[in-house]
Amino acid sequence: MEFAIKYIYSLGTMALLAVAFGISLQFDRSEKLSRVGLGLLFGIAATMAMNNPIPIAEGVIVDPRNLFIGLSAAFLGLWGGVPALLVAISARSSLGGVGVEAGVVSMTIASCAGYAWSRIIGNRVLYHPGYLLLLGGMISFSLTAITLLPGDAMTQVLVEASPFVIAFNLIGATLFGGLMERERIIAFQYGRMRDEAVTDPLTGLLNRRGFTRIIDHLPEEIMSKAGAVLVVDLDRFKAINDTYGHDTGDSVLVSVAEQMKSCVRKSDVVARFGGEEFVVLLPEISEQEARQIAERLRETVCAIRVTLDGDAMPVTTSVGGHWDRNGINLLTALRLADRALYRAKQEGRNRTEFAFEPAMAAA
Ligand code: GH3
Ligand code: MG
Ligand code: MG
Repeated sequence: MEFAIKYIYSLGTMALLAVAFGISLQFDRSEKLSRVGLGLLFGIAATMAMNNPIPIAEGVIVDPRNLFIGLSAAFLGLWGGVPALLVAISARSSLGGVGVEAGVVSMTIASCAGYAWSRIIGNRVLYHPGYLLLLGGMISFSLTAITLLPGDAMTQVLVEASPFVIAFNLIGATLFGGLMERERIIAFQYGRMRDEAVTDPLTGLLNRRGFTRIIDHLPEEIMSKAGAVLVVDLDRFKAINDTYGHDTGDSVLVSVAEQMKSCVRKSDVVARFGGEEFVVLLPEISEQEARQIAERLRETVCAIRVTLDGDAMPVTTSVGGHWDRNGINLLTALRLADRALYRAKQEGRNRTEFAFEPAMAAA
């Protein structure tokens, strides 16, 4: 009875650690730090397991510490596995007794086994009991450390404890590893959905939501410096669709997106706002440079050709820009750049127009 209660208690600890692992996966900025923190938690769990062993026969006790250590290395890598191992080793050393050396070696083997397992399965996100059983089996190699025990103790552990240890490792790795794997899959799917929500599926550029989100997160010191916004709208795109078909239109949009990215600086943000309209943010830029980039964009799009029956026709675009020496206010900049775009269209298309600065525009 005591055996079952203690085993269930360990499984409860494992479930809590898996939840903590799931939460940590949401903090992608401080990944290493959260792995170290989690590793310490796994080490504490291993220490608690050591201090609360499970009796399996008269005078024979086992505990699932190696599962905590092995799984920390398997799922948290070196940044989590090493702290877990160090905590457990120092706890085991302070307990003393004849088995210190064997205990330390056995925990180290469990840690190496967990890490080796993670290297074997790589970054694949899988939910496969076979792989988790393999992990349990690999962690069980830690039993080889019993050869460091005195003769009698070694025989007793080998005969009476090792079947339990192996069974614990296989069952524990499947259940605990399954929970960890589940958290990893959820985090992976969540990340993918988050990316999809801000990405335009056709061109892979940011969509309007992604663009606005990035700008919301740009530091004030960047947004308050002179910068520009460009609105890029392909000319007579409806005619391209009507003449060459919608699929060709789509591939033109993809080419335009690629070319636009190649024209701007690393710090610039390019997005597809919808249809055949793109927006570019040019932070920290002089008016002259902003105008140069706008012209370069227009010329590069002009070099794209759509072909039908051997006839090649250029794609052209109009660009409206707004540069402000006092920094970028997105709504104002978009409104003024749009107005400039309208002028570019009015004046014959395939040209770049810049808005006047707000003070002049208002005059
Ligand atoms: P203008 O020079 O005045 O901008 O003329 P335009 O034809 O480009 O402008 P209009 O707004 O009349 O038409 C835009 C066209 O863009 C209409 C629509 O069929 C096409 N379009 C919008 N989204 C997509 C898309 O995802 N793929 C394709 N192939 N065409 C699209
Ligand atoms: Mg258009
Ligand atoms: Mg348009």
